[in-house]
Formats: sequence, structure tokens, C-alpha cells
Amino acid sequence: LPIVAIVGRPNVGKSTLFNRLVGKRLALVDDRPGVTRDRREGDAELLGLDFRIVDTAGFEDEDPDTLPGRMRQQTQAAVSGADVALFMIDSRAGILPLDEEIARWLRSGDTPVIVLANKAEGKAGEAGVNEAFALGFAEPVPFSAEHGEGIVDLFEALRPHIEHEDFEAAEEEPEEGGPLKLAIVGRPNAGKSTLVNRILGEERMITGPEAGITRDSIAIDWEWTAPDGEVKPVRLIDTAGLRKKAKVQDKLEKLSVADALHAVDFAEVVVLLLDATLGLEAQDLRIADKVLQEGRALIIALNKWDVAEHPPSLFQGVRTALDEGLAQVKGVPLLTVSAATGRGIDQLLAAAFETRDAWSKRVSTGQLNRWFEKALTANPPPAPGGKRIKLRYLTQAKTRPPGFILFGTRVDQLPESYRRYLVNGIRKELGFGAVPVRLTVRAPKN
Ligand code: GDP
Repeated sequence: LPIVAIVGRPNVGKSTLFNRLVGKRLALVDDRPGVTRDRREGDAELLGLDFRIVDTAGFEDEDPDTLPGRMRQQTQAAVSGADVALFMIDSRAGILPLDEEIARWLRSGDTPVIVLANKAEGKAGEAGVNEAFALGFAEPVPFSAEHGEGIVDLFEALRPHIEHEDFEAAEEEPEEGGPLKLAIVGRPNAGKSTLVNRILGEERMITGPEAGITRDSIAIDWEWTAPDGEVKPVRLIDTAGLRKKAKVQDKLEKLSVADALHAVDFAEVVVLLLDATLGLEAQDLRIADKVLQEGRALIIALNKWDVAEHPPSLFQGVRTALDEGLAQVKGVPLLTVSAATGRGIDQLLAAAFETRDAWSKRVSTGQLNRWFEKALTANPPPAPGGKRIKLRYLTQAKTRPPGFILFGTRVDQLPESYRRYLVNGIRKELGFGAVPVRLTVRAPKN
């Protein structure tokens, strides 16, 4: 775990902060022999950030004459092993000579320092916060350990120094130029084999079919040459028998949702192929819904468009049925193709790449929360039982599919409609398009 050291002169509120951060885990406070009594350690949690906290409290009753020397020792020992130091001052008392001295010790080391201006609640604290600028570190974080104010600001300040799997997505980011993993699913006779043969017939196959992704699926690597000439690798996740002309018997067999999901497991983008002459049926919606539940990006393609009747009203009908039928995502891309003639296939592949980009996208915390604040102002969260739900902070925890964590108080009472308001806003305003977006709520434990 990363280590955070709390330093500061006596009585600024270090212990209150320590207790707040360590909370119920106080039982874990270290009592190993050799760890000086002047230093307490514990496992802390702050809005989902986990770290180990070292508190240099323990001088509270020291003789003022010998205090600075002992403090210096303790502070330097604690800080030298830490990833970041929380330098706490008392905004009400202002900056005292001992604060300035501690600042000098901290400046001579190379541990990053966050100035935490405690007791900053209300007007009385303001002057102290401003004074704290003079200590020569970055902007002080106004805080109130007692009232629990400034938690989110502290989180923001600590986060760059602390790593946590939730907030680290490096390993999840798409491999640069990795092949688009594409699956094509749909009911029997929708035209899947025809589409795949058409695509592969025109494109260069890099390798022959590889058996063994699962018992029933294979992967075919090939390259799509986009209309602008760019060559993009695609890995088609192919369910068994897809490319071979299926036997009559197979055609009668109903494609179960489970079969379709076999391929979906390995895909980034799933194309649900519909037969335009038949339209959208309940089973199609079930498959679409499952694909989204699995967190995959979904595209709907209406095949056999060459023989479709009343194309405009047909298209509109399917569009409406999709938007009404898919609870999770409105505006799933809907395209028209003809596997038989090849029309629309380039557009379909272009849409698949675009959708993968949205599915893999990451927005900065700053951008996210600027939008978030506006969204809260435009439509404040409700107040069930007269108690307002307080939403504080939004962070993107992962990509592929995008996942967000919402912090606040009484978030467990957040109505589904409000959650949907936020998810739709994230999609529309932050460029996630129609990919499934997940939002987890979390109440700060502190
Ligand atoms: P699968 O079961 O989904 O693999 O469907 P197939 O690829 O075997 O196609 C089912 C039938 O639809 C075949 O007779 C195809 O020739 C026909 N078909 C597929 N795509 C098109 C298309 O774009 N237009 C027309 N008119 N027929 C198509």
C-alpha cells in the first residue's frame, strides 16, 4: 500500500483525521515492538482510495522546549518513508513559527507535500487558509476533520500520489492498434454466413481460421481496408459453422441466447444482424439486451436491404422498437446492409471501429466533474423524506466498457431515474455514444 504521513504541530487535528481515515479499521493500528509510541499506523480508506497512514501525533504533552527536536526526528522519519506528506495546519490559529519550521524540514526533503488547512469550516477559517499559501507549497486544501468537509478535495489532492486498481486502467486500455474483436450474431437466416463470406471474400485474410477460442468458436484475423485507404486489423469471432453454408437442419434450430453469447464473450463490438424482411422480433431484443448486459458495444444491422419493402418506414419502425425495447441504451447504431450485394458493409465496419473507440474512451476527472456540476445544477438530486441526497464527485474507474463511480451521501437512496439521467448525460455530453455505461454509487465510509 502507498504510505501517507500526517505531519503538523500538536493540536492541529492530526489524530482526528487519522481516526476518520482509519475509521473502523482502528483495530489494525500497528503495535509492533520497535514502532515508536509516537507514531501510529493504520490502513486507511478515502472514497475508495486505499493507503497506509502514518500519524506523527504523540507529542501533545511534550515539554515545549524539547518539542521541536523530537518532532523533527519523528516527522523526518515518518516523511522519508512516505509517498506523500499531509502537512496539517490549523486555519483558526493561523501560521505559527513551528508551522514554518516544519515547512522548512519538508522543503528540504523530496516527499511531495499537500498542505491541509484544517478547521477551515466557516468564515473563521478563511484567513488561515490564505495564510497557508505563504508556506510555499501548492494550494492548501481547506478541510474540516471534525465536520468531514473537504473530503473530496483531499481525495483529489491525494489521488495522483496513490495508486489503486480502481483508478488505474493502464492494463485495460486497448493495445495500440490491436485488432477490432468483432462478433456477428443473429437468428438463423439473417444472413450471417453470407455477410462473413462477403467480407472475407473481399479482404485479405491474415491467417486461416484458428480453432479453439472455445469449443464452438474460431477467430479469423484479417484486415479491412477502409474507404480512405487505411488498413485496419480485425479479428472476427466466428461461431462454428458460420462461414460454411449451414445445413437445412441447422437452420431449423433456434439460435439460443447462450449460443450467441459464446462469441460475444470474446468480442469488443457485437453486430446483431437482422433480416429486414422480417423486422425486429422479441428474440432479437433479448439478444441485444444480453449483449449490453455483458458490457459489449452493440451495433444493429438490417440485412437484405436490397429486397426491403418500404425502407423508410421499416427503418423508422425498427429504430423506435429498439429505443423502446432496450432499457439500457438509447440510440444504438442502426445501419442497413446487403450481404448479397456488399452495400453498406464499409459503413458497418467504420461504425464498429467508431463504437469501439467510444467503448474504450477515458475522460479526465476534471472534464467529468465540470460536466457533473452542471448536470447537478440543471437537475438537482431529489430529497427523499426531506433529506437531500448529496452527490459529490464522479470518477471514471474503468474503460471497455466505461465504468464510473459516484460518491456522495445517501446515494443508496438515489432513484433509478436520476441514475439514468446521469448515465444518459455521460453518454451524450462526454462522447460515449451508445455504448453501455456503468455507474456504481459509493458512500464515503469516512
Ligand atoms: P445465417 O443463417 O444467418 O448464416 O444466414 P445465411 O447467410 O445462410 O443467409 C440466409 C439466406 O438469406 C440465404 O438464402 C442468403 O442467400 C440470403 N441472404 C443473405 N444476405 C442477403 C442479402 O443481403 N440480400 C438478400 N436478398 N438475401 C440475402
